[in-house]
Amino acid sequence: MMMRFMALPILALAACVPSPDIGNMPEQKALAENKVSAENLAKWRKDNPSWYAAVDPFQVVGEQGTGIYYVGTEGLGMFFIPTADGHIVIDGGMPDQASMVADAITKLGYDPKDIKILLNSHAHLDHSGGLAELKAMSGAQMMASEGDRSALEGGFYLGSEEEDFLFAPPVKVDRIIADGETISHGGVTMTAHLHPGHSRGCTSWSMDVVQGGKTYDVLVFCSATVAANRLVNPPQYEGIVDDYRSTFDKTRDLKPDVFLANHPGFFGMAKKREKQKAGDALAFVDDQAFGKFITTIEGWFKDGLRKQTEGAAP
Ligand SMILES: [Zn+2]
Repeated sequence: MMMRFMALPILALAACVPSPDIGNMPEQKALAENKVSAENLAKWRKDNPSWYAAVDPFQVVGEQGTGIYYVGTEGLGMFFIPTADGHIVIDGGMPDQASMVADAITKLGYDPKDIKILLNSHAHLDHSGGLAELKAMSGAQMMASEGDRSALEGGFYLGSEEEDFLFAPPVKVDRIIADGETISHGGVTMTAHLHPGHSRGCTSWSMDVVQGGKTYDVLVFCSATVAANRLVNPPQYEGIVDDYRSTFDKTRDLKPDVFLANHPGFFGMAKKREKQKAGDALAFVDDQAFGKFITTIEGWFKDGLRKQTEGAAP
């Protein structure tokens, strides 16, 4: 009785909504609203204290005022690339961490309002969460892959769209970047490498950095762990297993001089930072580090796929 009573006004309302007229559709759809709750953020913070543990921002590699700087936390990697024409930031951390990133940039002597380009490793809330606020404070252009666009603009985790624990503040993508595409800004060139699997549009970014007269290629890797992803029954998104495999095929033989990632544990940041503080100016240069990491996580992927496949069998 109650149900029927309640349903009536909704039906009446639905009948009043005109069917969409494609010819009159606005060019840009309005962004989804931000549905991140304080309760969910408190739970994330409680379960992942390292994500919120402060790290003094520092230069990873490069001559003073150039190259790449660390502006993340103990558990989440965010990166700052200064240029004479305004700056580039990779990742925004959790939904409530934009101000932490901004403070780190200020501490380095730059103005976060001068961020011109925002990049994202992948559209999961621990890396994309702060982007909307960073964009609002700076007016920067958000650049991302087509594969991650819907999740960034919708503020959800692709394939788990109803899971409110995984919501992020929606952020409009201003420019879509493709595999191998470069972004040149203020004398810096960033190259996008699509490494899908962990997310459909997972994007690693590379750049050349000069220090002491030598050039080092730096890779900020997107990730290729299974983490919360369903590989089967039903997959997180269509083609996810093939995507992981192609990403391992593409990355297995890469030997970047400097391997960085959005979780500092991936590249052993704490230890390298200690070496750097102790006077080793090239503490982050190690062209064997990435290969070892990929071998490890490819093993994790194979285990994960076997377990999920077995778990799914009747
Ligand atoms: Zn992720």
